[in-house]
Amino acid sequence: MQATTHPAPHVEQILANLPRINGVIPMYVDGEWRLAAEGGTRELFNPASGEPIAVVAEGSVEDARRAIAAARNAFDQGTWSSLAAAERAALLFRLADEIEAHREELMRIDTLNNGKPLRETEYDVVDAANCFRYYAGLATKPHGQTFDVPAPSQTFTVREPIGVCGQIIPWNYPLLMAAWKLAPALAAGNACILKPSELTPLSAIRLAGFFDELKFPPGVVNIVLGAGATVGHALAESPLVDKIAFTGGTKTGRSIMQAATSNLKKISLELGGKSPNIVFGDADFETAVDYALFGIYANAGQVCSAGSRLLVQRSLHDRFVDRLVERAQKIRVGDGFDPQTEMGPIISPVHRERVEGYIAAGHAEGARMLCGGNRLGGALANGNFIAPTIFDETSPGMRIVQEEIFGPVLVVQTFEDEASAIGLANDTIYGLAGAVFTQDIAKAHRVIRKLRAGITWINTYHPTYNEAPWGGYKQSGIGRELGTYGYDAYTEVKQINVNLDVQPSGWFSD
Ligand code: NAD
Repeated sequence: MQATTHPAPHVEQILANLPRINGVIPMYVDGEWRLAAEGGTRELFNPASGEPIAVVAEGSVEDARRAIAAARNAFDQGTWSSLAAAERAALLFRLADEIEAHREELMRIDTLNNGKPLRETEYDVVDAANCFRYYAGLATKPHGQTFDVPAPSQTFTVREPIGVCGQIIPWNYPLLMAAWKLAPALAAGNACILKPSELTPLSAIRLAGFFDELKFPPGVVNIVLGAGATVGHALAESPLVDKIAFTGGTKTGRSIMQAATSNLKKISLELGGKSPNIVFGDADFETAVDYALFGIYANAGQVCSAGSRLLVQRSLHDRFVDRLVERAQKIRVGDGFDPQTEMGPIISPVHRERVEGYIAAGHAEGARMLCGGNRLGGALANGNFIAPTIFDETSPGMRIVQEEIFGPVLVVQTFEDEASAIGLANDTIYGLAGAVFTQDIAKAHRVIRKLRAGITWINTYHPTYNEAPWGGYKQSGIGRELGTYGYDAYTEVKQINVNLDVQPSGWFSD
């Protein structure tokens, strides 16, 4: 592992285009910039240095209530849902252009707020723009079906927006998760209340600036700031909200599902994972090593679909693990603004301690640590850094094997044959993602079909496409985002029957 450093970023310059009221970055509700109703504020910190970067409004239940009222009013007035799909699409295409035109700025905002390297935030910004484009295009495409029924009836379906959608997102992809939520919902004609993570709200607020400049109707997009237990919970339980879409931890997902029973609102949950990356003895060796690293250390392992369990066939184990450790130790860890940096910090001191708790648990349970496990010192001592870590000689019941660590910690599990690989792979409560590396294409397909997971890869790890559905089996979630599935999840289906033989039914005598 090599440490990279960088001079302090010019915070004022990076955040120059964010709105401020009395020095506080406000939220965006009903087409207006607003401070928190009860005056709350929250200080944000650069995860790479521990330095304060901004003060943002910290909303309360009252702010959630106001945002819900604004969205409800906008939806019920039809200011957005009644526009022709082509008009909604035109505005969403312009929004995508704005995002692209401000690519550098948005990259720097997310790198400052989240810590991830610029090459990762560049990917996020480009993908966010493309997500809005994809759904802008989908808005004008055919969505209904016709049915050949045994009666003189023209029977068909139309898709209509669900109504007011509460959308709660985590901190690991601040801008991209906002795009995954807002793009399909707006394309389908809904009114949205997005609550970013309280740790990383800055790019969502910058995005609100584009919605404002492009004159989206007031109340159609609201960005409300604050904690999950207050603002997030208020969105999940409000009877005025028709749908709640959540990305975050499985425990939080469970509480959101319970709160959503108030009015049986529609729910989409994208939750945690402990995904297996299975490497057979006949895999292309260097490719498999490379993707094993990418699978776990991209975004410092803070990825729901991270390949956090490496399942390696015994015949290959020693050679593979030796090479993996050699490569993991070369990863350049540091400030995301340094172009040399390959892996950034953990999001917060609290989360770093959580990850370290798992490293301690790994030792206590008898796993063997092959590399990492330590904080970084020197110029990086004030950031939340943890070196790329690998545990070997694990057993399936260990906490580090079963629980989502959400950090740069890889656990190695060894298997004998295809059947035992599948058994180990499916042996957690999660079912988000998984991959297999082998040059035997029939074996690859057999194994993938046996994985109880929603997103899978053969001879690669992590590629994600706006066009294809994303979501988990088991306790990794409910529903799918992205692709046409993601659009459908923001619509209700209405059946329409037109009588083609208009005369009294004759059911009752006259
Ligand atoms: P988290 O569950 O703590 O928080 C996510 C969001 O939920 C935040 O905005 C938070 O404020 C809010 N929240 C917290 N408690 C709430 C409550 N009681 N009611 C309503 N909202 C509440 O998760 P996190 O730590 O921000 O993110 C990490 C987790 O997200 C990991 O478990 C990861 O696997 C998951 N994740 C999943 C996906 C996916 O697509 N499946 C993608 C990214 C992250």
